[in-house]
Amino acid sequence: MNKLVFSWPNGKSGALTTSWDDGNIHDRRLVSIFNKYGIKGTWNLNSGFLDSKVKEGTRKKYLSSKEIKSLFKGHEVAVHTVTHPSLWRSSDSMILSEVVEDRKNLERLTGYPVRGMALPNGGPNDERVKNVLRAAGILHCRPTARGENFELPLDFMYWPVTCHQADDFFSLWEKFMNKSNPDKLFYLWGHSYEFPRDNNWERMEEFGKLTGKKGNIWYATNMEIYNYVTAWRSLSSSVEMTQVENRSGVTVWFKAAGELKKVGPGKILRL
Ligand SMILES: [Zn+2]
Repeated sequence: MNKLVFSWPNGKSGALTTSWDDGNIHDRRLVSIFNKYGIKGTWNLNSGFLDSKVKEGTRKKYLSSKEIKSLFKGHEVAVHTVTHPSLWRSSDSMILSEVVEDRKNLERLTGYPVRGMALPNGGPNDERVKNVLRAAGILHCRPTARGENFELPLDFMYWPVTCHQADDFFSLWEKFMNKSNPDKLFYLWGHSYEFPRDNNWERMEEFGKLTGKKGNIWYATNMEIYNYVTAWRSLSSSVEMTQVENRSGVTVWFKAAGELKKVGPGKILRL
């Protein structure tokens, strides 16, 4: 029997993804840093706060709806609900309205299906909340919990991060680079407004220099990771693993007997 071992696209040894909440104007600077270093982000927006006029000097100033599509080109826009309620304190109907309405608003702005999410105010994501989110069409959902590890989530509806922007991500990155599991993922989250608040934008520049543009790292949005990993997990094989069918819409890579193989969308590979 053949043994198939996970591989990131093109045989890369690890993946980096990031996630940022609330749709603050400081996202503009963060996006430009990421674009400089080739890092991708998922931007979780409250559509009810876009275009809101907030007086100068307060930390929360929101993006305008007109800029969403061009600002986040090459990145992913995702749901953070319309008005940022704590979901564990909300009724099923309220969660459904908040999520579906946010999806609808953001889909109008971006022009693509918006099916990722970050939980407003973090909090527990129990089966009740998860079921409503699934019914609302959500595919991946991030709490604020962090594991300081580099594992893929077992359940994408509760996808803990590696660390927050205020954590020591430099030493975590060093640990990450020394890890040998083939499916290792580094996942950073935060709020762009924390950089001006804490006067430490240079941390993100340093992070970009340290982690960006590495030939052996795959830089992906949350949804790209979700699509790839679910496609990998769904590879359909014969019992002897001599035929591998990829029923997904993305090319999937794996190693068999130490050799890197790929199987295109809708294709069958014979080993
Ligand atoms: Zn938030």
